[in-house]
Amino acid sequence: MTPTELEAHIAELPKVLLHDHLDGGLRPQTLVELAADVGHTLPAEDPEALADWFEESADSGSLVRYLETFEHTIAVMQTADALRRVAREAVLDLAADGVVYAEQRWAPEQHLRRGLTLQQTVEAVQAGIEEGTALAAEQGRDIRVGQLVTAMRHADRWQEIAELAVANREAGVVGFDIAGAEDGFPPSRHPEVWRYLAENDFPTTIHAGEAAGTDSIREAVHLGQADRLGHGARLVEDIAFDAGSGTATLGRLAHWVRDHQIPLELCPCSNLQTGLAPSIREHQITRLKELDFAVTLNTDNRLMSRTSMTHEMTRLVHEAGWTVDDLADVTITAAWSAFIHHDERRSLVDDVILPRYQQIEGARL
Ligand SMILES: [Zn+2]
Repeated sequence: MTPTELEAHIAELPKVLLHDHLDGGLRPQTLVELAADVGHTLPAEDPEALADWFEESADSGSLVRYLETFEHTIAVMQTADALRRVAREAVLDLAADGVVYAEQRWAPEQHLRRGLTLQQTVEAVQAGIEEGTALAAEQGRDIRVGQLVTAMRHADRWQEIAELAVANREAGVVGFDIAGAEDGFPPSRHPEVWRYLAENDFPTTIHAGEAAGTDSIREAVHLGQADRLGHGARLVEDIAFDAGSGTATLGRLAHWVRDHQIPLELCPCSNLQTGLAPSIREHQITRLKELDFAVTLNTDNRLMSRTSMTHEMTRLVHEAGWTVDDLADVTITAAWSAFIHHDERRSLVDDVILPRYQQIEGARL
């Protein structure tokens, strides 16, 4: 199979995506058009040049340049129409990528500059998700998408955003997340938020183990009672690998995460850009998967990393020796880790994912 044939084949596999930022996945063309609407100046006017700029800036190794990329996407997502369009297109792009279930995360507090209320931003995104889902179904691509409402760690509006998420649990919001500067803004900054979420039986994922190490992961799983970990790649710091014998010895925290099968939302291409992993071949995802952690595969920021689920999967097959069984494993793990109820997860696995994998049984990648 040629690389092109392989990619076309992988594109048709059913996929589950749990970690994808709405403000990190805009189409370059949409960004250009929305920026023109509001008079926002972009670093490039041509969509292709703009896509290059985003990838280069995210690649630069400079956190300042990386954060600047979100300044541009967030600047154009300040009206209900813009939020609705971006959400609608995200759903369509994911459906075209073979995604059958996704959670889109974003921070409502960053979209209030033109007068929207927090509640209005959630409703606008939900309207876009529903439009995109209906359009995708018309194209023969069934997809289900939930919102993950994120609080920015440095902004100290965690409680307000958690209440927003819980208030919209019957209106499309499936979970709560914190994102932004991991180092220096740990879950213990606002312990009352985690108590509030637990009292409301509300699902939580926490970015941890990306920019900070095991202490951050420990707080996320114990104090934050995180149902999943955003990234979690630095959990390998609590595992001693012996290259000679090929053995791995887990520390207490690594055991805890594996014993409880806390899902890890790993994002290989994004992690290459931030320097968390030196290469796809050496990315933590393969070692953690081999050690039987609950590993899921994700895109993080499709625009900044110029990626898709198909692209992430293709690179793992090409560069890290993954097989179609490995791709099925992470997809099924992600489905069982989705913030939907148990019976819905079972239906996603049994009625959607497995039949499509069985159709291609015998296919060799
Ligand atoms: Zn993320």
